[in-house]
Amino acid sequence: MVFGAGDPRADVMIVGEGPGLQEDLQGLPFVGPSGKLLDQLLGEIGLERSDVYIANVVKCRPPGNRDPRPDEIDACKHYLREQIQIIDPTVVITLGNFSTKLLLREQRGITKLRGVAYAWWKRVLVPTFHPAAALRGGQRVLDQMRDDMELVRQVVSGEVDPYALAVGEAEDGPKPGELAEPMPVEAEQRSLF
Ligand code: URA
Repeated sequence: MVFGAGDPRADVMIVGEGPGLQEDLQGLPFVGPSGKLLDQLLGEIGLERSDVYIANVVKCRPPGNRDPRPDEIDACKHYLREQIQIIDPTVVITLGNFSTKLLLREQRGITKLRGVAYAWWKRVLVPTFHPAAALRGGQRVLDQMRDDMELVRQVVSGEVDPYALAVGEAEDGPKPGELAEPMPVEAEQRSLF
């Protein structure tokens, strides 16, 4: 099981898809080629891995790196839900389709959803591509990931009011106005995703 790693008091939490081979072997998230690129992108906005907390949607490696199945996501998502509540980050970065669709409760894909910050309960959610997509897809994907990370930098540095920045809104998800009223933990636990 690859549970997660990082600073338990991090302002920034990163949610990937699931462990790959290297992660499975080492028991840590994002320690393979995708992790290298993630470290680089974090470094470019002044963050180190030890400043953030990293977790995945599914906690065990899907055999042969296949996509996680819906029943596997269902089996694991309560861990992620509680990780988010315990870490209590200001910003959640979702990497790729699986984490983005789960947290935003969205059917649309990452290409449509990225590029804006979402008001997400009491937090700001910034979806971006999975680093593996940048490793496959080349410069354009990488440039867009850099744009998304710049949004993260602006929130974390206090340069912008995160609520003002959070213009995007999940179609069937919570509305930005809901940010104003912190909800009881039990209610959040049922509603997050
Ligand atoms: N890809 C993921 O989504 N998560 C990891 O931990 C590693 C690679």
